[in-house]
Amino acid sequence: MSELPSHFEEGALVGVLTTQPLDRLLDYKAPEGGCFVGAFVEVPLGPRKVLGVVWGPGRGDFDISKIRSVIRVLDAAPMLDEMRQFLGRAADYTLTPMPAMLRLATRSPGLGDPPSMRKVYRLGQSEPDRMTDARRRVLEVLKEYGGLSFTLGELAETAGVTSSVVKGLVKQGAVSEEESPRDLPYPLLDPELPGKELTGDQAAGAEALAAAIRSGAYGTTLLKGVTGSGKTEVYLEAVAECLRRGRQALVLLPEIALTAEFLKRVEARFGAMPTEWHSGVTMTERRRAWKMVGEGGAQLVVGARSALFLPFRDLGLIVIDEEHDTSYKQEDGVLYNARDMAVLRASIASAQVILASATPSLESWVNAESGKYTRLELKSRFGASELPDMSAIDMRDEELPSSRWVSPSLQAAVRERLEAGEQSLLFLNRRGYAPVTICRACGHQIACDHCDARMVEHRFLKRLVCHQCGETKPMPTVCPSCEAEDKLAPVGPGVERLHEEAAELFPDARIAVLSSDLFGSARALKAKVEEIASGAADIVIGTQLVAKGHNFPLLTLVGVIDADLGLQGSDLRAAERTFQLMRQVAGRAGRAERAGIALLQTFQPEHPVIRAILSGDEEGFWRAEAAERKAAGVPPYGRMAGIVLSSPDAQEAFDVGGALSRADGPLRRIGAQVYGPAPAPIARIRGRHRVRLLVKAEKTAPLQAALAQWVAQIRLPNNLRLSIDIDPQSFY
Ligand SMILES: [Zn+2]
Ligand SMILES: [Zn+2]
Repeated sequence: MSELPSHFEEGALVGVLTTQPLDRLLDYKAPEGGCFVGAFVEVPLGPRKVLGVVWGPGRGDFDISKIRSVIRVLDAAPMLDEMRQFLGRAADYTLTPMPAMLRLATRSPGLGDPPSMRKVYRLGQSEPDRMTDARRRVLEVLKEYGGLSFTLGELAETAGVTSSVVKGLVKQGAVSEEESPRDLPYPLLDPELPGKELTGDQAAGAEALAAAIRSGAYGTTLLKGVTGSGKTEVYLEAVAECLRRGRQALVLLPEIALTAEFLKRVEARFGAMPTEWHSGVTMTERRRAWKMVGEGGAQLVVGARSALFLPFRDLGLIVIDEEHDTSYKQEDGVLYNARDMAVLRASIASAQVILASATPSLESWVNAESGKYTRLELKSRFGASELPDMSAIDMRDEELPSSRWVSPSLQAAVRERLEAGEQSLLFLNRRGYAPVTICRACGHQIACDHCDARMVEHRFLKRLVCHQCGETKPMPTVCPSCEAEDKLAPVGPGVERLHEEAAELFPDARIAVLSSDLFGSARALKAKVEEIASGAADIVIGTQLVAKGHNFPLLTLVGVIDADLGLQGSDLRAAERTFQLMRQVAGRAGRAERAGIALLQTFQPEHPVIRAILSGDEEGFWRAEAAERKAAGVPPYGRMAGIVLSSPDAQEAFDVGGALSRADGPLRRIGAQVYGPAPAPIARIRGRHRVRLLVKAEKTAPLQAALAQWVAQIRLPNNLRLSIDIDPQSFY
């Protein structure tokens, strides 16, 4: 390969990748002082100025006199060759145009602004003399965001007040105003502070991970351990070793509400807070994080999946906590799986990846079995408790009136807990009051006007909500179809309805509902979780939100209202998901000194998945599931791509789908097959009709290249959107 110049003299032609949706690099002249490959630049495009990165020499196939100059090189650390490789390979893998990849990598406001001073606002020392609603909102926002600083505009906007309200609070000392340099480095983390004492296999695991870090080479480890086995303490030792070697570390968490608890553990271990990156971070802090990660002023980043696209200088370790969690798959815009992208980025950066989970994804389990990943298992739990005893409640034997869901057996178990002063969790993975609203006169079910989905009653909001598009409307009093009055009735349970039932059954119990839609912000949710964990409720009613790693030390009973729920439907991963979710939920019980039990209400206790959950034979479950996938030639033993065509015009979507299915030459050449077109499982979302094709190929087939050739043959009408999802996680 020939050496490409890394520096361009003023006036030399450079090729710039911009964030604009164009299918090629654009030629510009290097600005005064020249520029390097990887420099972030501002370039003119028509009448606008846009962000770009110098990608290499220009093509020069354009009239040189018409070529414009780069406006300026931005004050940001240049993009490393490693990052450019990562973006390129991620683009190839996900079939995403490069400008969209660059947008993912530059999600920070004003990243080219020069360093300067500006005023920031934090919580002050004194109380205001007079409290108004507006003032209270400002102080609440500052408290809610902990120690984070705001600019005046950000604070006023978040609190919904005018800036004069903030200024008034500054005068009274209730809000502090400081001059602060933009983008300060983060406080140093000290890996030499003592960590928690580790037991036998924890210490051995920590040492194995540290040795992998010291190798300075790429590798992936599956760190498997039941809830409470000390996974976090173990991988924090790998972070410590990474920091000792002067390299940066990244920890991804599946949910922002978990971040605060985790930050505390990091602070206890390393003596300072790490860098946060997620949607709950202010724009001011987001910009600081992006810049400092790029300049090496941030040693450890804790965040959401998009943190993978931050401009790390020297990334030595990526930890993906709860690696099986579905939130790691981005389902709109650029469709990527953070787990796969982490492995890709680490392999380019000679970094280590740790995938931590109690219930790994089948993909990771198979990779560990085949030796592609190293496997580390933590067996012992902290304290005396073990995984809870699990048993089924056979609903065919239970006497329940209609529209009631808590069986007599489960009621009895809850009562025992109430008498002992212990907590119970009733788990139901359905938000709202009732999933279906039906007219008892004509049988009509209320559906969304824009989607092929039924609307869900949310009694708390007093509205019907479409969970596909978010559309809401007031609960009607007459049937929209037959106009009968007062005939609309809820069918089936959601957590709000379960709450109603529990309140009737246990009138003296304190009951709390945990569902994502009942909380305005992640921080409000976190406060509620802490309150419950410290004993503020006797019965917790929750959706899958509670399965995600929150600790409830007083909880000794988990009752799963409908263990069969996830087994319905044709989703490839239904069994795997149910198994993971039930194990995670059961793991909430008996974490501290007290032993716990989990009771699963089911109509099919003999179902293989339910039996595997109850017996605790995880390896047996994975082996059976792997064998089934292998026989069917589906992931992880084969490759798949989901293609969704959507259009306001159903016929148009079908016509294009049909044309694609006929022009399958490029796919047949690699031995792949096309299935469809067929209406997608949700055939209409936001007024767009959706048609689906599925492509299956062998594991080693060059799928992406063939897909690119295949879709390039067909001219797409303007109205039609085509999305390709490589290794789809869900079918909708
Ligand atoms: Zn009706
Ligand atoms: Zn809708």
